[in-house]
Amino acid sequence: MDKEVIVIGGGVSGLCAAHYLAISLGKASLVTLETGPGPGGTTGSDSVDGYILDWGSNGFLDREPLTASWAEELGLAPDTIKANTAAAKRFIYRNGKLHQVRMPPGFFLSPLLSVRGRLRLCCEPLIPQIKGDSPESIFEFASRRIGREAARIMVGAMVLGIYGGDAHQLSMAHCFPRMVRMEQEYGGLFKALMAIRKNRKASPMGPPGTLTTYKGGIGALPMRAATALGDAMLYNTSATAIRPIEGGYAVSLADGETLSARAVVVATPAHAAAGLVRGLHPPAARALADIPYAGLTVACLGYPRDAVRHDLDGFGFLVPRGQDLRLLGCIWTSTLFPFQAPRGSVLLRVMLGGAPDPDANLLSDEAAVNLVRRELEPLLGITGAPELARLYRHPRGIPQYTLGHEARLDALDKAETACPGLVFTGNAYRGIGLNDCVVAAHRAVEAVVKYLN
Ligand SMILES: Cc1cc2nc3c(=O)[nH]c(=O)nc-3n(C[C@H](O)[C@H](O)[C@H](O)COP(=O)(O)OP(=O)(O)OC[C@H]3O[C@@H](n4cnc5c(N)ncnc54)[C@H](O)[C@@H]3O)c2cc1C
Repeated sequence: MDKEVIVIGGGVSGLCAAHYLAISLGKASLVTLETGPGPGGTTGSDSVDGYILDWGSNGFLDREPLTASWAEELGLAPDTIKANTAAAKRFIYRNGKLHQVRMPPGFFLSPLLSVRGRLRLCCEPLIPQIKGDSPESIFEFASRRIGREAARIMVGAMVLGIYGGDAHQLSMAHCFPRMVRMEQEYGGLFKALMAIRKNRKASPMGPPGTLTTYKGGIGALPMRAATALGDAMLYNTSATAIRPIEGGYAVSLADGETLSARAVVVATPAHAAAGLVRGLHPPAARALADIPYAGLTVACLGYPRDAVRHDLDGFGFLVPRGQDLRLLGCIWTSTLFPFQAPRGSVLLRVMLGGAPDPDANLLSDEAAVNLVRRELEPLLGITGAPELARLYRHPRGIPQYTLGHEARLDALDKAETACPGLVFTGNAYRGIGLNDCVVAAHRAVEAVVKYLN
């Protein structure tokens, strides 16, 4: 065998798995294969004219100790930067205006929802818990508990912001499992919040956490992890197939070479994983190919501060569908992380596309920037052209845990049982956040180390 383990995919998931495999087995026992010329997958950052531009993710919530330990082991602890407290203020665009999302009692006076919508939301504690376990979409769950209007405007916008997804298509149990547990354990969401406050128990939603990045942007995390792996990281190296051999697996590469190992960690997006295991386990390949992805385009725009009338005091805003804007939302990045724009300038990151508007990802660079400027500039009182405009395109950016996801996960579990030493990890299965990727990578490492021992 060439190695003990081959990790396929050098995004955050593959890098985290490789880091802990290197600790358990020694760096010489593994190799990580990455198609691209550098590490990170959808997570990376560029430094351009004094701006720090994140390609996709802009950070993670500091509530997952495993992410903090990984970063600490990589020597990133001194470079940690927490978001400004203004990040707590969030806005939703409705009827031509930005409305701050408020908690009660301010919520009752906010015109974000109609009076009827607000009253219906207040009835949440009276809504009985659902019996049985038939899968619900996020929209079904939310409209049952808080009413259709709040589900459409507030939850619909949140789902776009997190998944670039359509709340009617996505599975509640897979996208927000903790909220489902809140209903099951406490009978409702308000009841759960009250009980948690009274008992000062840890919330089933987990501690809320603060958005966190690093000096140089969130891309510092994969960059540092890849550097630490050294020769155990191969770029411009695409795996094309995995097949069983005596005592392990052979991984074919696009250049015609083959590498062998006793175990393989597949940390690519699901559509790429499908191609890798087509010959090895056809039902798993079909399940993987069935996981849809939403394309997203991130437009980073930098303006002189005095060209923007809006105070940008908050995280940014989201746009539910059915309004007169095509953009999905905007993060006021330089409010969260002032170091990401040069002094005297602001950085705004706008999302376009997502599952409800795939055509937006097909716009030319010029058309996409023009669209964003046409919608954003009047809303935020911006005069003049941006001093920086850059697009990051993620044609298959975020996996969508649609209804039926459980059956796909079952097929993968069966493949792992049928093919000992083969493990799937990454954002396509049990959580899309960076923290979820880290937790899943730990599980993958545990399974591989147990198998090898
Ligand atoms: C626009 C956007 C915004 C986001 N915002 C946030 C956020 O604010 N907070 C947060 O927590 N999360 C966020 N996320 C999600 C988070 O960034 C991702 O879930 C995470 O980066 C995924 O990491 P991964 O390693 O699982 O997958 P990927 O990043 O997709 O990495 C997979 C890697 O596999 C490689 N690969 C594919 N095929 C092969 C092959 N055949 N051989 C070798 N290598 C291969 C790819 O080149 C890639 O590098 C965001 C995502 C996007 C797209």
